[in-house]
This record gives sequence, C-alpha cells and structure tokens, in this order.
Amino acid sequence: MEKTSSQQPNHSGENVPVWRQVFCNRTLNLRSVKAIGYDMDYTLIHYHVEQWERRVFAHVRERLLSMGWPVEDTAFDPAAVMRGLIIDKTLGNLVKANRFGYIKSVNHGTKPLDFDTQRKTYARTVVSLDESRWIFLNTLFGLSEGHMYCQLVDKLDAGVELPGVQSYSDLYKKVKGAVDLTHMEGQLKAEIIANPDMYVDLDPELPMTLLDQKYAGKKLLLITNSGWKYSKEMMEYAFDAFLPGDMTWQDLFDIIIVSARKPAFFSGIQPVYEVVDNGLLQPIVGGIETGKRYSGGHSSLVEQCLKLNGEQILYVGDHVYGDVNVSKNIRRWRTALVLRELEGELQSIDSFRARQKELTRLMQEKTRLESALSRVRLQVQRRSKGYGNSDTPSRSKLDKTLQHIRSELIAIDELISPLAKAASELDNRRWGLLMRTGNDKSHMARQVERHADIYTSRVSNFLHATPFEYFRSPRGSMPHDAGDFTK
Ligand code: IMP
Ligand code: MG
Repeated sequence: MEKTSSQQPNHSGENVPVWRQVFCNRTLNLRSVKAIGYDMDYTLIHYHVEQWERRVFAHVRERLLSMGWPVEDTAFDPAAVMRGLIIDKTLGNLVKANRFGYIKSVNHGTKPLDFDTQRKTYARTVVSLDESRWIFLNTLFGLSEGHMYCQLVDKLDAGVELPGVQSYSDLYKKVKGAVDLTHMEGQLKAEIIANPDMYVDLDPELPMTLLDQKYAGKKLLLITNSGWKYSKEMMEYAFDAFLPGDMTWQDLFDIIIVSARKPAFFSGIQPVYEVVDNGLLQPIVGGIETGKRYSGGHSSLVEQCLKLNGEQILYVGDHVYGDVNVSKNIRRWRTALVLRELEGELQSIDSFRARQKELTRLMQEKTRLESALSRVRLQVQRRSKGYGNSDTPSRSKLDKTLQHIRSELIAIDELISPLAKAASELDNRRWGLLMRTGNDKSHMARQVERHADIYTSRVSNFLHATPFEYFRSPRGSMPHDAGDFTK
C-alpha cells in the first residue's frame, strides 16, 4: 500500500507527520552548533493569530478614528491577507509573486484584478524586494497591516478624504505608522499580559525541547525585539509551568537580550544596557557576560562573549528578513525559520493527494496531446510548402487528425479546470498556498530557500530531530533532476 505523506519518516527514520518535520535547504550538523539563539514572538511564543491580529486591527482603527479618518466600517478578515504577499505601494495593490518575482495574482485594494488588467499592469515588472516600492509581509504580524491598507485603498479610490494622503504610498506610511505605535505603546501588550489564555497558543513540548538542547551542551540565547516586561510575562506563562522543579525560563538561557532592534542587531552597533531588578536599565562597561539579561546591543557582542564565530551559532526566528536574512548574510550565522502555516499547508496538500494524482495524470495526458498536435501541424506545414518527407499523409487526413486531437484537448481541459481551481484555492481561497504560486515556488518559498538553512513549523519539532541531528540537504531540484539516473 502506498504511504501517505503523513507517515513519512523524518531524518532519523522516526515516523513524524510531515508537517512536524524539520526541512533542510543547506546541510547543517547540529553537533557543530555550539549556541542556539531564539527569537520570541511567533518563534518561542506562538499566538492565536486571528485573536491577536483582530486586537491590533481594532487598536489601529481607534488610532485612525482619533485622527479624524472615517474608518468605522473597516473590519478584520483573517483570510484576506497572508504572510509572503507583497504590498505594491505605488499602485495600492497586494500581489503574490513567484520565485522569479513575476506577479501572478493581484488585488487592487480589496478587489481582485482581472487577468488582462493584471497582465497589462505588470507585464514589464519584476518584484525586487530591495526597492522601496515593495513591502514584503515577513511575519504573521503583517496580516492586520495588510488588510487595513487594502480597505483604505478602496476608500481613497472612492474619493474619501484621508487627511495628509495624496497617494497610495502616503497611505501606506500612515497605516504603518499607526501599526508601529500600536505595537510600541503599552496598551496592546497590557491586554495580552492580562489575558494570555486568549492570545497565546501554548506548546507544552517546547520547554523539553530547549532542556534537551541545554543539557546537550548548547548555549541558549533569547534575542527578541520585545521589551523586558512583556518578554518576562510571556516567557513565564509559556515555560515555567512545564519546567522541572523550581526551574524558571530564565535558567534555560545563557544570555537574554530584549529590545534587540533586529535587523539592526545583526547589521550595526547599538548601545547595550544590563536589565537589573524590576526591569531597570544600567549602562555596562566592557562586553556582555553569560547569566545576565540585556537590552539592545548587537550580534558581535554575543560572538565575543561566547568566543564563537557565526558558523557555530544557529539563530531561530520567524521574521524572513529581520531574523534569518540579515543574520545569515551579514553575520554568517546559521539560520532556522519557523513557519507555523506549514502545518495547515501540508495537511491541505495531504488531503488533496488523490485529486492531485488525477490532476497530474490529466496534465501528462494534455502534454502528450499538445505534442501530438504540434507534430501534425508541422506535417501540414511541410505538405503545404512542399518539403520534407514524401510519405506525409494527405491534407484531408491531417485535418481530420487535427480536429480529433483538438476535441480531445477541449474534453481534457474540462476535466482539468475544476481540479486546477481547487488546487489553487488550497488553504486560502483567494491566495492559495504560502509556498506555491501556481505550479511554481512562491516568492516566499524563494526567500525561505535563500536565507533559511533549515525550516520547520514550530520549535518543538526539534524534540524529534534531537540536538545531535545531521540535517542533509536533498540532492538538486532542477527540472532535469526529475530524470534521476541513480534510480
Ligand atoms: P520578536 O519576534 O520576538 O523579535 O519580537 C517582535 C516584536 O515586534 C513584538 O514585540 C511585536 O509586538 C513587535 N512588532 C511586530 N510587528 C511590528 C510592527 O509592524 N511595528 C512595530 N513593532 C512590531
Ligand atoms: Mg518573531
């Protein structure tokens, strides 16, 4: 009997569901990793995305209302936007691009663009994330920002006056400003602290995962952009009840760094303070030391303190740019990306397996028919121009064959079309899968491939992978690899 993907063994041969496995882009031997740094939000602490983003959205709306913006009728829809989509600030669009940066689906504001308009608009455009025109939604924190922006684009188009806004680009700046203030000011975080059950999605396997790593001799680091008070409350809630004896979350980590201001933490030099009792900040002299808590600082202080180079440190985070892109490209740290959406995504793919098999079979049949059609067309051409083989069938015979193949193609397209539509709506009806754009890898998938040495849906998947795992990257994935000559 054929194995379902959910029964595939992981690297160690253990039967772990595929959505709980660790995937490898670049070979990584955990035995040579001496320190593991963790991001906190959406890495060690996973939130109930809908509740959290709904709260952020409500705060942003309040803020805009207080600025006199008519946004009473805006509402948050968690399925409207997903991570990995890209805001086009110039045109007020939300787009999904493939791995080459070609734009494949577009919303103008909240409305999908029809195919022709989309093609005309972006015929000569390739997304390049280093241009300020494009805003890549790097984390699950981007959902409320994206959806508010889209709804306000609709308003701007309808002629509603939004103070200080002349362009879609101005509009983005205002929305981003309101989102930033919401995250920075205390009220939202106070609500989360007051009601963690509602917002935090606990993972009881997580503390054990870190204990395994600690006792295997890894130095553990917490490096988060959140402030001390919030980090302390969240980590206590998520870890302390699951740790043995009197151990607390702070005992797990050799160095704790809050308010890290990533990506600057990896790219620049910033002041560092020690966090002393009650969260007071105290200037330090010299470098940082293990067993202490800091606010700010930068990555070379960590390397100096631990006497390690970048290759010996693995950083685990959920932010495609701030956590894994810069840490890898500037500091050469090894990187792991946490993508919780992979769980739903791989389960959707698994439940679509039988239909996918049928779709693949039909596509192969279609390809075969198209090739046959091309060959007959060439015969028609040769016959009409009077060159090539003398045994070419008569024109009327060729025309009959053409007609027959064409009607077979029409019939097969009718079978393909509903299956292809269902495949494109897997996991999110509007945008489809996170890692795919049509038949190709998505722009998100390309970012993951480029910047993350390994990736997985949650940190506790390392419990099964163990601290001694040797992750080996698969052999190539070029189109010609499909004809694997070693089989
Ligand atoms: P980390 O993921 O642990 O490094 O922390 C993320 C921190 O950044 C959290 O405190 C979030 O509230 C905050 N944050 C997330 N998105 C935004 C944003 O768009 N603007 C400002 N702060 C943000
Ligand atoms: Mg994070």
